[in-house]
Amino acid sequence: MNKNTKFIFVTGGVTSSLGKGIISSSLGLLLKSRGFNVTIQKLDPYINIDPGTLNPYEHGECYVTEDGAETDLDLGHYERFLDAPTSQNNNVTTGRIYQTVIEKERKGDFLGKTVQVIPHITNEIKRRIKLLAQKDYDIIITEIGGTVGDIESLPYIESVRQLKWELGEHNSMVIHLTLLPYLSASGELKTKPSQHSVRQLMESGVQADVLVCRSEHKILKDVRAKLAQFCNVPTDNVIECMDADTIYRVPLELQKQHFDEVVMKTLDLKPKKELNLDNWNSFLKKYKNPKKKVEVALVGKYVSLQDSYKSIVEAFIHAGADLETEVKVRWVYSGDLEQNPVDEILKGVDGILIAPGFGDRGIEGKVIAARYAREHKIPLLGICLGMQIITIEFARNVLGYEKANSMEFDATTDAPVISLMEEQKNVSEKGGTMRLGAWKCSLDPKSQLKEIYGQDTISERHRHRYEFNSDYREEYENKGLMPVGFNPETNLVEALELKDHPFYIGVQYHPEYKSTVATPHPLFKAFVKAVTAHKGK
Ligand code: GLN
Repeated sequence: MNKNTKFIFVTGGVTSSLGKGIISSSLGLLLKSRGFNVTIQKLDPYINIDPGTLNPYEHGECYVTEDGAETDLDLGHYERFLDAPTSQNNNVTTGRIYQTVIEKERKGDFLGKTVQVIPHITNEIKRRIKLLAQKDYDIIITEIGGTVGDIESLPYIESVRQLKWELGEHNSMVIHLTLLPYLSASGELKTKPSQHSVRQLMESGVQADVLVCRSEHKILKDVRAKLAQFCNVPTDNVIECMDADTIYRVPLELQKQHFDEVVMKTLDLKPKKELNLDNWNSFLKKYKNPKKKVEVALVGKYVSLQDSYKSIVEAFIHAGADLETEVKVRWVYSGDLEQNPVDEILKGVDGILIAPGFGDRGIEGKVIAARYAREHKIPLLGICLGMQIITIEFARNVLGYEKANSMEFDATTDAPVISLMEEQKNVSEKGGTMRLGAWKCSLDPKSQLKEIYGQDTISERHRHRYEFNSDYREEYENKGLMPVGFNPETNLVEALELKDHPFYIGVQYHPEYKSTVATPHPLFKAFVKAVTAHKGK
């Protein structure tokens, strides 16, 4: 372990969904701007080994890292704010902790001993936290999922207590995110729930060093003083976090209260650089003052929970800001397209995005949207399942295979234009067995995609089991839906684009995972440009 690494633990109190991920990301950004090498980790107290097997309605989008980990969507925020990749080690669940401990027990690593939560589970939690310190990080921020007081959080809080003690003064700290509810009848912000949650932490032997307080109103001086006194922290360490118009403003609001300095002081760190948030500010300025506006239909089946498509929405924000264009998303439930006239539902949209997904619900609606975009020359971007949909639509309506389908939805179709990947044929377990993570893709030198990326070979992240069936490749080429991106080793088709259409592109990979504030994704930028050009036509 790197001896100089400092550890910051972020816990949450009072309620869930206060935005620990955004607070951690914002702090990470501020510390990075101070010249530190920072990474952020999330510990999730549920029993699933990873969120890959969760329905997006449970937990929002499943985010995929370069090294192919299926992770919590907060890792997406970490990458988007820090502009640095995360990895398998950045997200650990209780399920994974127990799995490791139980495997060790079976191997005989604890021979003769009773295996218990303390010390075996807590040791494994601590090992997972310290594992990141083998890399060159100055600071590791560990976000503890859940709310203090939850039964399942207890081993994590105990691990934090032990680590704080082991690491010694100034080497670690606890930031507690809490809520100050507002009672409109008396016009007051109430501090009691926060006092109780800080006390609950103390019952586990952990003293919070900083309080970050979510509230809908400004925290006046006397409330701040009261919180500081009853929670045992210096007044400067009470940081207000009011509801912001965008998550991207949060780091600036926290900085105004010297959040980064409070943290550096607690950890006895000297800044390595003058703070410079010019790029961040200029992004925010462009995002908030767009010169143009377009509307894109996002056609998917999980649209009633928009977190299911978190990275796509954020990628539109990054690309839109870069082009000074507001990208309004029209949420379209694909099942609705099966019941109602497509030109009513998609009326007036300037572009269509067909979303990733699994299972057959809403598939026919997506096929309808793909056809509509193709025939009306509306810019379309199909991501993962979206690429598979444009493949199916083209087979049915242009190549003449009426029953064409993906084997995911019709295993016995006579035109399986999307088929199960060879390597998937013997896979029976569902968890962590898809084609995952970053793979190289060679682009056809004459393709639109090559021009968009400005490179012959790209690397993008994947999460799928099915693929374009290359037996049909020539037929597609003859009719103008061109395979233009290939895995250099297996020749697997990774991207398609339609000839004689301004922008009709499907990609088997997920470009949205790689878009960050500092580096908006070229494919999203190109799509927004095409959508803008189409507007009003
Ligand atoms: N269900 C499809 C597959 O497994 C697409 C997956 C996705 O969109 N991420 O291939």
